Amino acid sequence: MPQPKIALVTGASKGIGAAIALGLASDGFDIWLNYRSDHDAANEVACRILELGRVCTLLPFDVADSAAVTDALAPLLENETPAVLVNNAGYAKDGILAMMDEKSWKDVLSVHLDGFFLVTKLVLFAMLKKRAGRIVNIVSTSGQSGMGGQTNYSAAKGGLIAATKSLALEVAKRNILVNAVSPGFIETEMTREIPKERILPFIPLGRIGQPDEVAGIVGFLCSDKATYITGQVIAVNGGAYM
Ligand code: NAP
Repeated sequence: MPQPKIALVTGASKGIGAAIALGLASDGFDIWLNYRSDHDAANEVACRILELGRVCTLLPFDVADSAAVTDALAPLLENETPAVLVNNAGYAKDGILAMMDEKSWKDVLSVHLDGFFLVTKLVLFAMLKKRAGRIVNIVSTSGQSGMGGQTNYSAAKGGLIAATKSLALEVAKRNILVNAVSPGFIETEMTREIPKERILPFIPLGRIGQPDEVAGIVGFLCSDKATYITGQVIAVNGGAYM
């Protein structure tokens, strides 16, 4: 019997990452599920993955911490290579630039850009040897259109979009496909505090998106139906930015 394929999803204890992990498990992947601190939420997602008949390996570590990333992933990568990596872990620390402290700037850049670099570098090395792999980076409309109050977050996501395209060029010949998925406003903990009446006028479809609506396109990009797509940014934003 062929070995089940593995998908590593970062930031998958809740929100978009959890939906992506569950979607990929439904598609037949075993899941390496990274998160930072919410053990209860991660355990709940792991139980649902087991109910789908797939294996879930919980990997709590900070994606921006080089030593923690290596400690968690290097031993696993000695024996197995994920077919899929989804770089999803992240958060925002909003505020206007004139009032932003250096920590808010550095932390947000670090979780998205250092996190991408550290996790991807390790996994990519294994994928290159296999000459196969799919990498999906979760970016944001903020990184495409810009968003007042999110200069740090927009810089991080804009940087990740550029990194997606450069990496796609580097590894295309090794049959590794690298794409970005760019959500607009999606209902998760991250957006819970934002007043809906402030956002809805800017969304042509007239509603906030759901995590499953992002997971659907990630699942497609990781499937056998998406063998000729690389270096792209695919928006899931209800028309908020075209
Ligand atoms: P969320 O519900 O707050 O979940 C964030 C996840 O990331 C959690 O699992 C969290 O783990 C994990 N995480 C945070 N920092 C981490 C770190 N340093 N190392 C490892 N894991 C870390 O957020 P979300 O809304 O689903 O967002 C997921 C991704 O989509 C983020 O990259 C975000 O920028 C992007 N995005 C979201 C929206 C939106 O409207 N929600 C729109 C565009 C883009 P713990 O909770 O266990 O600590």
